[in-house]
Amino acid sequence: MASICTNPECDYTKRHGVIQNAALEFCPNCGRRLQKVADVAAITPVSRGRRFGAYFIDFCIAFLLVLVGTIPIVGLIITPIIALYWLLRDINGASPGKSLLGLAIVSRGGGRSTTMQRILRNLPFAIMVLPLLIPYIGLTDYPIQLFVILVEALMVILTRERIGDKLAGTMVVSHDVAQAQYAPVSA
Ligand SMILES: [Zn+2]
Repeated sequence: MASICTNPECDYTKRHGVIQNAALEFCPNCGRRLQKVADVAAITPVSRGRRFGAYFIDFCIAFLLVLVGTIPIVGLIITPIIALYWLLRDINGASPGKSLLGLAIVSRGGGRSTTMQRILRNLPFAIMVLPLLIPYIGLTDYPIQLFVILVEALMVILTRERIGDKLAGTMVVSHDVAQAQYAPVSA
């Protein structure tokens, strides 16, 4: 049986992950009685296939925005919109693609992810489109985008974690796993 500290002012769970010591009743940091949560032993990153599927859906949305950007005038404001889209796609806990495939973002080692973490993990994707804002230089940005996407894809294949995940300390898990983790355990 695992437990977490639910004191919003205490960062013990954030720093140490879910507490696996069943004998521990109170938070070693703030002293609050710990909240029992469903066993998190089963928490592992989701399969690469599901992650790529979710990413592909998110990518298609970005591609639609690029197409909208070919409309004169709209094109001038589309780059900041695309950058914001990448940056904020996980703001509610899961991007559109992740929601559709039942995925959610948690803190590495268990624990709810913070808004800051959900933004930070997408920094590489947001940064890669920003050079498009510079006239003429913009065209040279496509190789940069391809590079970032390839590196992040390779990271998922090899380590199951994007650079963005390492940066933010996040993990992509099944939505039901994320839910179960916080469902209070009766008995
Ligand atoms: Zn605490």
